[in-house]
Amino acid sequence: MDIRLHNTLTREKQVFSPQNPQRVTMYVCGPTVYSYAHIGNARPPVAFDVLFRLLRARYGADHVVYASNITDVDDKIIAAAAETSRPIAEITELYERIYREDVGALGVIEPTHRPHATDHIGGMIEMIETLVKKGHAYPGNDGVLFDVPSMADYGKLSGRNREDMIAGARVEVDGGKKDPADFALWKAAKPGEPKEARWDSPWGEGRPGWHVECSAMAKAVLGETIDIHAGGLDLIFPHHENEIAQSECAHGRPMANYWLHNGFLAMDSEKMSKSLGNVKLIHDLLKGWDGEVLRLALLSAHYRGPLDFTEALLNQSKATLDRFYNALRRMDVEAADVSAPNGVMSALCDDLNTPLALAELSALATEANKAEPADWPRFKGQILAAGALLGLLQRDPEDWARGDASEADVIDARVAARVAARKAKDFAEADRIRKELVAEGIEIMDGPDGSTWRRV
Ligand SMILES: [Zn+2]
Repeated sequence: MDIRLHNTLTREKQVFSPQNPQRVTMYVCGPTVYSYAHIGNARPPVAFDVLFRLLRARYGADHVVYASNITDVDDKIIAAAAETSRPIAEITELYERIYREDVGALGVIEPTHRPHATDHIGGMIEMIETLVKKGHAYPGNDGVLFDVPSMADYGKLSGRNREDMIAGARVEVDGGKKDPADFALWKAAKPGEPKEARWDSPWGEGRPGWHVECSAMAKAVLGETIDIHAGGLDLIFPHHENEIAQSECAHGRPMANYWLHNGFLAMDSEKMSKSLGNVKLIHDLLKGWDGEVLRLALLSAHYRGPLDFTEALLNQSKATLDRFYNALRRMDVEAADVSAPNGVMSALCDDLNTPLALAELSALATEANKAEPADWPRFKGQILAAGALLGLLQRDPEDWARGDASEADVIDARVAARVAARKAKDFAEADRIRKELVAEGIEIMDGPDGSTWRRV
């Protein structure tokens, strides 16, 4: 079964054919770590995690190399450090750790490489030197600039015309720009900027521009031409357009063969923005919802389309997972070692059609619920294999039914308190605790080995 992916560069769905099936390469632009990530930021890592899983299933887990960077030097980081009077490294380490915990809770597999911009400054300087030497870059008043008119096919990814590109960049010709569309490769350090945010270069102390960071990191960990480069729709211009300009002018070959972009996430049909006060952080959502519920919600729409994130969607996602886990729980047998059913596989191979894959999984659960026990091992195996491709359903169904770990601990403690009350012959107290738990939908089962509980 071919994997077909929509390529932003060619504007069509194409059969995916890697340069080397023994080493399939993928790069997804990662976060700038100066603050908490919001749920919209979770869409690329989750959507392309499904692609990573699909590629591993197809080419073998050891034959897919996936890199997603950490941008740990940036104007926003410098501003956050200055505002809070904290060292830059303290801020970047803290928010990188939180980011990794957050996406980990959403079931995202750790990429093969997580390059940090500050570990690749040498490679960035080298790339800028090459661009200057080849006549694609020149020193300006406060750093080095990329010479956009020097690249004949600049703009091919976004398809923007020149007026749009200039409007998207800064209108005024500043910093010694020869052309309004030219962009910064190297930014000279400004007075008062911290030492940790400046490096020596042939053009004086300074730091790299954001675009060249990704170009240099992708080359360092994956190579000059990679198979897949992905990110959010908002990165097409200028970020990815500029990555293409830098890498292709430096190396004389395509930067990536397939460019994938995920759509926007809206909050209750509105754009998520600070001014509207509707920004939802992953970190905060995880306090009220299981990470797997958030993941399913994120996968409920096709990655290229918009996703409307609502409370109703979360409730529905929770109910769907309850249903899947209940089907698994009912089939009290060892799962057969089978692969994901064709319906789920072909949906994912068709440009990662996760809504269709979930509908197939749902139909499978319905069938499983009606199946004879003799067929349970196969059904259970298929549901688990499909779940593994989607990054869902890999937990013990009993644990799922009992709720999240911290909640389960609290219930365990209340059940133990009831046992203690009974031992002390305080039957009124024991009864009170039991009634309280029953009211919350928890059934206590007293047996010779003590008391256990389950949700009903
Ligand atoms: Zn990038």
